[in-house]
Amino acid sequence: MSFLSETLARVKPSPTIAVSNLAAELKAQGRDVIGLSAGEPDFDTPEHIRAAGIAAINEGHTRYTAVDGIPDLKEAICAKFKRDNGLEYTPKQVTVGTGGKQVLYNALMATLNPEDEVIIPAPYWVSYPDMVLLAGGTPVFIEAQLENDFKITPEQLEASITGNTKWFLFNSPSNPTGAGYSREELKALTDVLLRHPHVWILSDDMYEHLAYDDFEFCTPAEIEPQLYDRTLTVNGVSKAYAMTGWRIGYAAGPEPLIAAIRKVQSQSTSNPCSVSQKAAVAALNGTQEFLAPNNEMFVRRRNLVVEMLSAIDGITCPVPDGAFYVYPSIAGIIGKTTPGGVEITSDEVFATELLNDTGVAVVFGAAFGLSPNFRVSYATSDALLTEACSRIQAFCAKLS
Ligand code: PLP
Repeated sequence: MSFLSETLARVKPSPTIAVSNLAAELKAQGRDVIGLSAGEPDFDTPEHIRAAGIAAINEGHTRYTAVDGIPDLKEAICAKFKRDNGLEYTPKQVTVGTGGKQVLYNALMATLNPEDEVIIPAPYWVSYPDMVLLAGGTPVFIEAQLENDFKITPEQLEASITGNTKWFLFNSPSNPTGAGYSREELKALTDVLLRHPHVWILSDDMYEHLAYDDFEFCTPAEIEPQLYDRTLTVNGVSKAYAMTGWRIGYAAGPEPLIAAIRKVQSQSTSNPCSVSQKAAVAALNGTQEFLAPNNEMFVRRRNLVVEMLSAIDGITCPVPDGAFYVYPSIAGIIGKTTPGGVEITSDEVFATELLNDTGVAVVFGAAFGLSPNFRVSYATSDALLTEACSRIQAFCAKLS
């Protein structure tokens, strides 16, 4: 019998982290690599937030805290939900963890039993299915098609619900597609969920503030108040506040669920970093004025990438509503051959050949559950994006 657990054998390491590691390795070997695989903003944490972190250290906030968050952070989170989403929560309905990732993991660990199913629209953030598997549940996928802007339909949701469905995992704007559900589209989904009272909603709102053009962010508990008692709304400071390394995520939902999440956390990591919690208070309570200029920059980069990739014969690149990813289809490239004689049989082969030939690191679509595509993270400089897209253009032009 294997020394390692059977549960662990069901999951794979994060492919996005694997691609980022490979790109870093090649770079260390002296290769000219442009990494477009990391899901984090390339700018610094705003100054006032950094200052709050430094003050926290100097003022001695360096000890264990309450397991699931200090009172002033929970208050700041309640204020955020009211301000941004019109949702009323008390601090007892709030949990803080080491990133949204831990909060999602805790929620699944706290609730899943062996027969339980979790509905996950594909393409999905790479960690969802593996977290469900680690927690002993079964992921059930709904394929969102490019023709429907990578969004699922109410009919698809209805058809995927069974007596064993425990959660519907919703993410808008989405990693990896950047697709965002409008109020009407989300209402159509919540109408389906109203008919199935045993299904809970896990809404991952991590990219809430990264919304572009006329797209208006909305979240299930806000759109359908009748779902409030069975919705866990997850968010965090990583993306909007450029705080990926600080590791603070949070969620709000029914008190018994929050207590169960606290129990998981109390027997694993205990409190998230005390210093980061203080910095997160400054992020949520402080000025939000930098969000708009950041978004302007992201829109410019998104347009640059969409335009350059759309110019490639064989690539279709929809314009995303938010986040900092594009998810082009390479259906028109499958079956072509590189000058070295390698046939592009899948998006994984495409990404490998692209990295080997040009040094541009992207993540292949199969990792996100919808092929043949690849994900580009455009959270990097205009100059690097232009260079990377030129290399992708040149690579594709050589295929025959
Ligand atoms: N949810 C989505 C969709 C993400 O893309 C990420 C990070 O990439 C997370 C959650 C987790 O973010 P963090 O753990 O940094 O809060």
